[in-house]
Amino acid sequence: MENWQTLGYRYFPLGLAMRQTFGCNVWKVSVDAGFSCPNVDGTAGTGGCIFCNNAGFAPSRRFVQRYSVTEQLDEGIKRVKRHYQNRAEKFIAYFQPSTNTYGEPAKLNALYREALSHPDVIGLAVGTRPDALPEPVLDVLEQIAAENYLQLEIGLQSIHQKSLDFLQRRHSYQDFLDAYERTKRRGIRTGIHLILGIMGEDRDDLFATAGEVARLKPDCVKIHHLYVVRDTQLAELWTAGKITLPTLPEYAALAADFLERLPADIVIERLSGEADAAYLLAPSWTAIKHAARNAVDQEFRRRNTRQGIFAGA
Ligand code: SF4
Repeated sequence: MENWQTLGYRYFPLGLAMRQTFGCNVWKVSVDAGFSCPNVDGTAGTGGCIFCNNAGFAPSRRFVQRYSVTEQLDEGIKRVKRHYQNRAEKFIAYFQPSTNTYGEPAKLNALYREALSHPDVIGLAVGTRPDALPEPVLDVLEQIAAENYLQLEIGLQSIHQKSLDFLQRRHSYQDFLDAYERTKRRGIRTGIHLILGIMGEDRDDLFATAGEVARLKPDCVKIHHLYVVRDTQLAELWTAGKITLPTLPEYAALAADFLERLPADIVIERLSGEADAAYLLAPSWTAIKHAARNAVDQEFRRRNTRQGIFAGA
């Protein structure tokens, strides 16, 4: 199997990892199964993370109220096939909005298995947060992972408590480590989501984050920048001029610094977040398709470096 360096990539992209695993082009299709979040329902807190538009979690506004998992997959798969002119061959059902392990184990099992029963779906991705992975839920995930492709994606965002406090995550890095280690012990493929360039973090903080992620060796990493959408606490801070956000070149430099320090075999799932243009407030480059990907690629070429070049340094 050719590795990503010989194919001309500067980092190990998810699309290539999928082709290597499944032998075809695989796309993720988002599914809203109607979950809530411990950081919204009062278990950990009520306001949610400052960047999260959690008003959208209200049952009256949920997609799932109108469409089942199967119907959402049918529609999403049709849309992706149309958009990519049938280049998309198989699909990962991505339980994405809110906290997708936050429910009764039997209900979770039924929802995941409904997705897996779709004829075009070859696996699952499940997004969650560290305080929503009790042992009975891991029992379900372990069983599914033993029989299917499953990727659990845990939102960490930062290893630094000052940033977790700023973002109002209401969990600690230690909480994350506990959940991550229990998950990895079960043999479940696990990814980490991180925000780079959070206000108040400096280069040493970034390098410390990269060092920790390199030590933990997740199967994949998703990085993105902090962006502001309407109806969030972050929007209020941004409107009041109280926060700074990275420019595109600044973010590209941060991402390159970070990826240079990750082992070459960690799959990079994404390099930026996506926001609905109707909701996005800043930075404006968030709305430009592939802007971050192209800028990070250019930054690597300018430096003549790549993912992993300083891993272990
Ligand atoms: S943990 Fe996720 S779903 Fe919950 S408030 Fe934060 S960003 Fe939103």
